Amino acid sequence: MDERVYKGYFLIGVDIGADIMPVRSVLEWLDTFTKEGWLYEKVDDKTLRCIACAHRCLLKPGTRGVCLVRRNQDGKLMVPWGYVSSLHNDPIEKKPLFHVLPTEGVLSFGMLGCNFRCPFCQNWEISQTGRDEVASQYASYIKRVTPEEMVKLAERLGSQMIASTYNEPLITTEWAIDIFRLAKERGMLTVYVTNGHATPEVLDHLKEVLDAANVDLKAFKEESYRWLGGKLKPVLQTIEGMLERGIWVEVTTLVVPEFNDSDEELRGIANFLAKLSRDIPWHVTAFHPDYKVTDKPRTPSSLLLKAYEIGKEVGLRYVYMGNVLAPEYETTYCPSCGTPLIVRSWYDTQVHIREGGKCPKCGEKIPGIWRRRYPPRTEDDLAVLKVPPSSGV
Ligand code: SF4
Repeated sequence: MDERVYKGYFLIGVDIGADIMPVRSVLEWLDTFTKEGWLYEKVDDKTLRCIACAHRCLLKPGTRGVCLVRRNQDGKLMVPWGYVSSLHNDPIEKKPLFHVLPTEGVLSFGMLGCNFRCPFCQNWEISQTGRDEVASQYASYIKRVTPEEMVKLAERLGSQMIASTYNEPLITTEWAIDIFRLAKERGMLTVYVTNGHATPEVLDHLKEVLDAANVDLKAFKEESYRWLGGKLKPVLQTIEGMLERGIWVEVTTLVVPEFNDSDEELRGIANFLAKLSRDIPWHVTAFHPDYKVTDKPRTPSSLLLKAYEIGKEVGLRYVYMGNVLAPEYETTYCPSCGTPLIVRSWYDTQVHIREGGKCPKCGEKIPGIWRRRYPPRTEDDLAVLKVPPSSGV
């Protein structure tokens, strides 16, 4: 299951208006897609501290944060708003979230930029905007859109969920919250796919509108995280903090040969998760050479199997292999009687679990989100649902 976004692909038939990128700095161009943000603390009259992620950038007037897309303009924090770089109705299995409404669609949007600079990023074309000259060219694909249009589109497509994903959602949290508020009014679930480099403050805001997250736990050493441009500790705190705030969490580790594939590192991750809760699903997924890391091989299946077995050994109940065809290791089994409950083979998913998440054989309750809340069924709702595709979003 690969969250990679295919550059320049948008949903067919969705014309939400494109602007032509003029010949000038890509960041200046993106500055025209911003709005005043509120995830900051005032340091003095004109100096701000951004609290959207754990970098906590000090922003003097005229400066940008590490992510490059948030900046201080004359004492005001300006943040990305009103566009998407990518937009797809994905199966939820692609995020990956295996314990949230299996087989249902999730309207998934990305913007541009990141607070990390992972050399093996599989979505570098949209994450490294402003840092990488080639990546910056992809900014010309962005499309203007409003939160209302996004939610209406999700309704038209029958998506049960809406997700901020593909690039790092934390750096555009004000935009996501504006969309998620509307989505939740309609009864949809909301999702983040994030590197987890958050602050407790941003989690406090997100808990009001966020139902589920897949958090990357990329390594278990501070030095490894330094190479990626972040810190390990805030990521661990985010996983714990999301659970404390009632957000459903699944964790992904992209297993990269010679980066995080030692027994010590994999066992460290698995033990950390098992101590928090043996019910956290852990996805161990295969790396393929990309961006600046083209000298390492694809992750062999034997290495993924090692990670899977470590997860099981330390007591995690739900460990899944990803980005390989391995149905036996992508399936959800009842931890009590061993019955296969959700059988997956790439995106071919057969659901045997009962409504409410119970094993049909022994009645064991499987943790996750299993009940649909959408679509709502009032006359007004139905009127919105009947908007014909040709009338625009
Ligand atoms: S989102 Fe993170 S990287 Fe960007 S300005 Fe805020 S604290 Fe800095």
